[in-house]
Amino acid sequence: METKNLYLNGKFVSSSDAVTVINPATGEGFARVATIDAPKVRQALADAHAAFPAWRQLTAKARADYLLAVADQLSRRADETAKIVTMENGKPLAQSKGEVALSIDHLRWFAEEGRRAYGRIIPHQTPGKRNLVVKTPLGVVGAIAPWNFPILLGVRKIAPALAAGCTTVLKPASQTPLSSIILAECFDAAKVPAGVFQVILGSAEMIANQMLSDPLCRKITFTGSTEVGKKLIAGAAAQVKPLSLELGGHAPLLVFDDADFEKAVEGTMIAKFRNTGQSCIAANRIYVQSGIYDRFVSAFVARVKAMKVGNGLEAGVDIGPLVNESGLKGALAQIEDAVRRGGKVLCGGKRIEGKGFFLEPTVIANLHGESACMHEETFAPIAPLVRFEDEADAIAQANASVYGLSAYAFTRDLDRTFRLMESLDAGTIGINDGVPTTSVAPFGGVKQSGWGRELGIEGLEEFLETKHVSIGMGS
Ligand code: NAP
Repeated sequence: METKNLYLNGKFVSSSDAVTVINPATGEGFARVATIDAPKVRQALADAHAAFPAWRQLTAKARADYLLAVADQLSRRADETAKIVTMENGKPLAQSKGEVALSIDHLRWFAEEGRRAYGRIIPHQTPGKRNLVVKTPLGVVGAIAPWNFPILLGVRKIAPALAAGCTTVLKPASQTPLSSIILAECFDAAKVPAGVFQVILGSAEMIANQMLSDPLCRKITFTGSTEVGKKLIAGAAAQVKPLSLELGGHAPLLVFDDADFEKAVEGTMIAKFRNTGQSCIAANRIYVQSGIYDRFVSAFVARVKAMKVGNGLEAGVDIGPLVNESGLKGALAQIEDAVRRGGKVLCGGKRIEGKGFFLEPTVIANLHGESACMHEETFAPIAPLVRFEDEADAIAQANASVYGLSAYAFTRDLDRTFRLMESLDAGTIGINDGVPTTSVAPFGGVKQSGWGRELGIEGLEEFLETKHVSIGMGS
């Protein structure tokens, strides 16, 4: 089995230790990736620090040209990268292609946006003084990414950091590191200077502790569970280390009687089942107004039953495997809990026997707030349906969560749209839109879904210091 090397200070470096990458569709290992220990993580941070002065002193245009060259390299290798994403994560190939395409778009967006990291000159109000606001890069950024969008979520961190003039050390998830190695190969082919971007792997806790304790690392940007996010918050206290946190979610999706029916069914399918339900913005609670509830349920269940489940590399597959055995067991436990509390399984509900970690796409009705799937992250193709009567009740139920990453609503009423925009507790709101994420608009959570924003112009700000410079003048 081939072992891939890590990308350290401009070189692909082997190690005596490695992790095996398992294909969730077969349950079998198909590649290995080297791992490193604490001293080598420190070295990577030191090398990133050494690369920082030259990288920050480049013009924003020169940094943009490097990022565009990386985007071109990734574009050249898009099909091969998508195949690797499917093999390490399990998602259908068409979705992996979409993930790679969006990663390329992120690189291009931030290449351009880095050129607009404007400060400002403020009209002074003290004679003999001038007040300037200057934006400067933070320094070395440690980035930690999860497995559910293996390449996209790493790129979403390192592209703005690099565009801002920071240098970066990326730790992908242990289950899905291969696409980040391809990304490193793209950086190498684009001749980005050594130490500007590195890929490391090893014990997550050890790596996080090095990033937290090493003063050379000036910021950690993390996407993953709220549980680990809380550990990072605690660990960041000692050095008051800045954190950007993209954490868990439990998105509500509201379908109103006045919705465009077909659009609502289609949008709900996408918001729920994209990425096999393993998305932080997946619709985890689907509330349908009583006037269209029965019609919606029968149309939705028919669509769910028609989905093809299988190895994501096979043509026409809509739903791949869950990422691992523990993800599958967690999903089955949520179904069992829902049934025990009176939930009615309308379709699916069982493991698909054989190789890999497959779950039948599942729809459950008659759910109550206390069911685990109504408040714990689901991360599986399980769609819980709840009937509601009026808008105020729907909003109250939608907001009854510790999370606030995203929310969806289907309605044709403009007044209602504004009320929903203003009252739903979520960082991203999709109105008649099941796929609201785009490079150009901010993405992030409220409540326990995190701190800070990625993407949009806000995504760049996370990696810039804002300094006030007061200049005393002769007159
Ligand atoms: P996770 O267990 O928190 O892991 C995420 C990353 O953190 C992985 O790289 C993991 O490394 C690392 N990690 C594990 N323990 C750590 C520790 N003690 N300190 C620092 N890093 C640690 O989450 P996951 O199960 O992989 O990913 C799913 C979660 O991510 C869900 O909660 C989902 O909602 C969230 N998510 C949020 C967003 C968003 O934008 N808000 C997007 C996608 C996913 P190893 O792989 O080596 O363990």
